[in-house]
Amino acid sequence: MAYIITNLCTNDGACVEVCPVACIHTTPGAPQFYIDPEVCIDCEQCEIVCPVDAIFKDVDIPAEHAASIEVNAAFFRKHKAIAGPVPFDTAWAMVHAAHDYAQIMGLAVTAAVVDEAGFPIAVGRMDKTEPRSAELALSKACTAAAFHVATAELVPEAREPWLRSLMVSHRGRILPAAGAIPIINGVTIVGAIGVAGASRPEQDVLCCRAALTVLEHGSH
Ligand code: SF4
Ligand code: SF4
Repeated sequence: MAYIITNLCTNDGACVEVCPVACIHTTPGAPQFYIDPEVCIDCEQCEIVCPVDAIFKDVDIPAEHAASIEVNAAFFRKHKAIAGPVPFDTAWAMVHAAHDYAQIMGLAVTAAVVDEAGFPIAVGRMDKTEPRSAELALSKACTAAAFHVATAELVPEAREPWLRSLMVSHRGRILPAAGAIPIINGVTIVGAIGVAGASRPEQDVLCCRAALTVLEHGSH
């Protein structure tokens, strides 16, 4: 199931701000916003904030708006890049970039790059890093890939029932702690980088940003 945006949408973008998995998108000049049915987790936050009641759950959509189900799906078929996961060489370069930054800052961290489904591509643990940091880095990266947002944005939601139940059901692989950022190609999430081991979460985040510079320099 997924939520659907209909042509009642006035394009004010309010729903984008509340979506925890960043699955609401549009393009310049498009008449409305659209929800990616493959990513939506049915949390209903967008429906609550929409000022014009333009959003419906697909199973409850009024007959006159039923065509919007295909309109939303078709938008993502057209605009999602056909992108594979981060190639290993790029992922490994990202791990090294995170390590290099950590070393300069006097830190010891583990960096993990995962694919869109959260499976590891490259994981590197620096000498003197706490062993448990490997699990933490992977869990953070999985979380950023699953929610399509930097995990720092999930920290304020950590006590919400919907997130707590996901943390329990995923046995530690969902970790709303700062230190992971999704890797995006167009409107497609192709993976995530997670870092753990620094004494402060902000330092883990800075290591992630250092890793992402590998992509900016065109090796992805
Ligand atoms: S129901 Fe939740 S996950 Fe789905 S589009 Fe709305 S805010 Fe996003
Ligand atoms: S909140 Fe409603 S009107 Fe605003 S962009 Fe989202 S669907 Fe459109």
